[in-house]
Amino acid sequence: MFSSVYIEEAVRDSARVRSILQRIPEVPRIAIQQYGEVFNRAKQNFRLQKQQPALILAHKSGRRVLPTPEGYGFESGSAGKGFYFSHMLNCVYDCRYCFLQGMFRSANYVLFVNYEDFEQDIEATIAHAPAGSVFYSGYDCDSLALEPVSAFCESFLPCFQRHPEHFLEIRTKSTQIRFLLEREPLANCVIAMSFSPQVQSEQWEHKVPSIAKRLDALVRLQNAGWPVALRFEPVIAQTNTLSLYKELFELVFSQLDRRRIHSASLGEFRLPVDYYKKIVKLYPEEPLLARETQLDDGMVSLAHEQESLLQDLETMLLAYIEPESYYRCA
Ligand code: SF4
Repeated sequence: MFSSVYIEEAVRDSARVRSILQRIPEVPRIAIQQYGEVFNRAKQNFRLQKQQPALILAHKSGRRVLPTPEGYGFESGSAGKGFYFSHMLNCVYDCRYCFLQGMFRSANYVLFVNYEDFEQDIEATIAHAPAGSVFYSGYDCDSLALEPVSAFCESFLPCFQRHPEHFLEIRTKSTQIRFLLEREPLANCVIAMSFSPQVQSEQWEHKVPSIAKRLDALVRLQNAGWPVALRFEPVIAQTNTLSLYKELFELVFSQLDRRRIHSASLGEFRLPVDYYKKIVKLYPEEPLLARETQLDDGMVSLAHEQESLLQDLETMLLAYIEPESYYRCA
């Protein structure tokens, strides 16, 4: 699972670290002073490291809860605000369009184990946040994918159980839902699953569970009473994009109870230009990254009729869900 586990001195004796190490007894251990000395080291090869990443257990200091960019999520349709927190950096999956490849020097996973500090900061943010605010996990990782090791849900859900007037969105492509199925659902904790059309998923979403498996997980969560959401992002145009999405929507909405879908969103493929350039260097042979692009305000997107495509997809999506359940991710 991990090539090795680096353990920061500050967390070496914590109960959570001991418990994590018990779950991976066979993985070689290396003591370090500070996670940056491994994670931010110069001249690392993200692509090579991705084949056998290490786990780094560390302490997160500084600001742990931050405001989301304008228009990020479903809070934009309410009086609430959006916040995110990253208890983990990097992801067990390997999507070729993922911005994390351009953001970090290392493909190793950093798990910040001082969850109680995150929780304190979430509580402090909630104290001043309008009702209906949304907290996003999985901004710099996939929150559920490492659940058997991280116990993320087990640790963070009680905090949101105490604050039913605010939301937690767990965005994921993972089918690690056992813990969620074993406990009572929470009406304010939304499991948001991301989907791309079948052919794109096969092409670019390496190591990600199949659409059928993700959909099955979502159906089981919905049947158990969890609010589930659909994230159709990033939309990447191909010659037959509309028919690919038609097929995907038909499949998804034939299995889920559409009246009980919390929300659905569309979002285009956009990356900060520096991240994009770095990813192109990592995967020069990838056709997706050789396509014509456009630059707008420091963000790269694919050059094509993106706006009219998104509008067509919106029309298709709104045949299945109510307009108030839809938003477009900025
Ligand atoms: S699942 Fe999300 S976070 Fe993980 S590699 Fe894919 S796009 Fe990136």
